[in-house]
Amino acid sequence: MKNIIIFGAPGSGKGTYSDVIVEKYGMGHISTGDVLRAEIKNGTELGRVAQGYIDQGQLIPDELMISILAKVYDAQPAGRGVIFDGFPRTIAQAEALKQMLAERGHEMGIMIELVVSEDILVARLLNRAIEQGRADDNEETIKKRFAVYHNQTAPLAEWFQKEGIRNVVAWETYPSKEGMIDAIFKLIDQANA
Ligand code: ATP
Ligand code: MG
Repeated sequence: MKNIIIFGAPGSGKGTYSDVIVEKYGMGHISTGDVLRAEIKNGTELGRVAQGYIDQGQLIPDELMISILAKVYDAQPAGRGVIFDGFPRTIAQAEALKQMLAERGHEMGIMIELVVSEDILVARLLNRAIEQGRADDNEETIKKRFAVYHNQTAPLAEWFQKEGIRNVVAWETYPSKEGMIDAIFKLIDQANA
């Protein structure tokens, strides 16, 4: 299986669709948000530093994020492909990922960009705040995360475009979870055919 980079704004469904992909294709899964939340829960030094940024809706500094990347990647089951969920979020992270994979003779595979309008995203995140109680899913932090997304992460779409691996799946085109999943599976099957 080729690696997959799942890309999109906060609340676009990266985690949800990653789980569905893992279920069907048996791939590895790296969610940097989940990695950081686990560090916080375990009270590590990384967790302590990360918490300050997450609570503010800011990105963890690239250096720190990149320094744990190889370790997390090498801990995944070999040969099944990995889904990167929430990483990379900056050009520096993307360059570091490409290099880390190249050092291992691996490739980025395909990027799948989830496009969802902002009013739907906000509604989903506020709903997630009620259901999952994530501290950074409050209205104020959500606004900051969108600003960070637009300024630091969205420009990466063009970077992937130039790499020739960008694929867009829009909620407007497939306005149901089933429709989105269908479109995503088609892309993955095509890439691996
Ligand atoms: P989704 O709703 O699609 O799961 P999200 O953007 O709401 O995505 P996470 O990906 O879980 O949430 O990230 C939560 C927070 O963790 C981010 O706001 C950021 O502070 C930090 N974080 C996660 N991944 C990275 C990364 N690659 N670089 C820097 N900070 C990160
Ligand atoms: Mg997530």
